[in-house]
Amino acid sequence: MFQSCVTLVREKCRKRISVWAASTAFGMCAAGWGILMLGGCQPAKPGDKAPKLDGIVLFISDGTSQELISVARYYSQGARGRLALEEMAHSAFVRTPSANSLVTDSSAAATAIARGIKVVNGVVGKASATDPGNAPSILDLARKAGWSTGVVSDDSLTGATPASFLVENNARSDNYGIAEKIADQLGKRADVALGGGSRYFTDDVDNPAVFYFPGARRQSQRVEEKLRENGVRIFKDWDALKEYAARPDDRPVIGLFAPGAFSYYVDGDRTLRLKDMVEQAVAILRAKNRPFFLMVEAGLPDKACHQNQAKRAITEVLELDAAIDWVRKNLPNVLVLATTDHNTAGLTFNGYPPIGARGEALLGPDPSNQRPILTWASGPGFDRKNTRTIIAQDPGKPWREVIEQRTPSNPHYRQPALIEGRAALHSGGDVWLLADGPGAEKVHGYVENTDIFRLMAEAIEGTTRPSP
Ligand SMILES: [Zn+2]
Repeated sequence: MFQSCVTLVREKCRKRISVWAASTAFGMCAAGWGILMLGGCQPAKPGDKAPKLDGIVLFISDGTSQELISVARYYSQGARGRLALEEMAHSAFVRTPSANSLVTDSSAAATAIARGIKVVNGVVGKASATDPGNAPSILDLARKAGWSTGVVSDDSLTGATPASFLVENNARSDNYGIAEKIADQLGKRADVALGGGSRYFTDDVDNPAVFYFPGARRQSQRVEEKLRENGVRIFKDWDALKEYAARPDDRPVIGLFAPGAFSYYVDGDRTLRLKDMVEQAVAILRAKNRPFFLMVEAGLPDKACHQNQAKRAITEVLELDAAIDWVRKNLPNVLVLATTDHNTAGLTFNGYPPIGARGEALLGPDPSNQRPILTWASGPGFDRKNTRTIIAQDPGKPWREVIEQRTPSNPHYRQPALIEGRAALHSGGDVWLLADGPGAEKVHGYVENTDIFRLMAEAIEGTTRPSP
């Protein structure tokens, strides 16, 4: 019922009939639906000017539940603190099931947002392994409208989220195949792509950066060569990219600053931040003097949640927040959207820490009752007796044995989990969507993750698209 009401109201909106008339015409719709749609469907008045829109920045924080955002707020600033993302004026709840599961993975969720279609888990940028993959990416719509386009991620650029915007592929795990396809899309779908995953784009099979990776490399793969043939500027050195960005240039840019995913910022072994890459990508895109679309993935909250490591998850949410803060303060006339693709590992913030609790005090047990303040629904934290070591791969580091840490302030420390697993499961609760800037008032109520695509497409095309 909800969907059909929304469809009807959208149809009426498209025909520039008032929302009131639309909701009345469909008497079975509660009056509330009309109000719900009001912001998205103001009838145009003569002389109305569309708000100036210089671009869209879409943040996707992978695996970031509302519970995790709450904990990040209290960890960083205490009870009265506010994150930058909390200052965003408009918000909605988002349903996330994929085409074949009530609980989505990152590729199905990212494809829903990037293409506006519900697809099966594990497939990138198309509906299923047998689908020819004709659904355009939001990057295509932006370029068709004359915009410049880019993606930024602190995960590998071949990861499920950026890949679903950039390419179509049968399996998200096929990093080498995805890298080859990305090489062909730079300059077509995207002007700039900055992130990790250099090992998938490197031709040198003896490169020490790839030797530990457990997977067969395609010996014949020549992605770097292909990038050069396609006229793409390749940067593996951050300072060189900083230098370059001062000059406008029509050649596409790829920046690869980690062999795979970035390491966790809190681990202290890198200085390059997500925020820095966002600033640089925006500088490159704006130098073209056109509107721009930029997708920014914060990929590391999900990876930390999969390992039940709350300190890393929290601090990566703070890294996301710093990037959002920079965009909101420096880019007027830009529609800023922030969302997550799904919840990961079922973080729970248990009662009742004192009102003054903050920082690392939240990572271990509550001193008043010795019960953990944070727990997880699934994952390696199940092993509370520390009877085994775990083979794990931290982003940016080789596979290795991890000895369970007993000190809550250590980034490797895992809070307890209920269901055992080497990596935690995603969980299926609804997620959040925040918006600010021109057109942000259209974000409200309950939506599907595919509606995020339509919202962006409408902003780009300046027209309302009907529901499928
Ligand atoms: Zn995940």
